[in-house]
Amino acid sequence: MLAGPTAVGKGTVSADIRARYPQVWLSVSATTRDARPGEVDGVHYHFVGPQRFAEMIEHGELLEWAVVHGQNSYGTPRASVEERLAAGVPALLEIDLQGARQVREQMPDARFIFLAPPSWDELVRRLVGRGTEGPEERERRLATARVELAAEGEFDHVIVNDDVHRATDDLVSLMGIDPVPVPGAVSDATSAGAAAGA
Ligand code: 5GP
Repeated sequence: MLAGPTAVGKGTVSADIRARYPQVWLSVSATTRDARPGEVDGVHYHFVGPQRFAEMIEHGELLEWAVVHGQNSYGTPRASVEERLAAGVPALLEIDLQGARQVREQMPDARFIFLAPPSWDELVRRLVGRGTEGPEERERRLATARVELAAEGEFDHVIVNDDVHRATDDLVSLMGIDPVPVPGAVSDATSAGAAAGA
């Protein structure tokens, strides 16, 4: 389970896992929020309406769920997680603190990992920099972030996200997977060399 405050880079780490560690299964959450540009239904989230979300709760389809940032609901579909775990597939849930606490009660053997920003100022800079939220939503997210950062001590491991590839490698190592080299790093060096030589 990976948790951490808004804009710490959970999405970037997830994307890096998709790209470099296809053997890791990433749980796809259901959410009532609208898709952001570039987000694909069924890949990044299942974008469901509030009615369907309520139905999922009622039918016990969610392993955990929470209202995050006091606004939208997010939840982990139970069946897909249980299938992967039964098949021995390494599974990663990227959820908020409230959800992580619920999963911990139901799955005490799960690893509880906190992705932390290098500093508070850097977190604010990343949130403003990505520009996906207006000032009001940003304030709401920063208020949640303060609460989440204070809960860091509840986690089994803390990974500081000052370098995405390193943070991803630390995460997969905790899942028992050997880190692999970053493919782009070699070709970048080659193209830099080629450019310098040209
Ligand atoms: P965002 O709207 O930026 O994609 O996500 C907002 C927050 O919702 C993040 O902190 C993320 O970890 C959390 N989140 C995403 N999926 C789930 C989920 O299935 N359950 C819970 N409890 N939180 C989630």
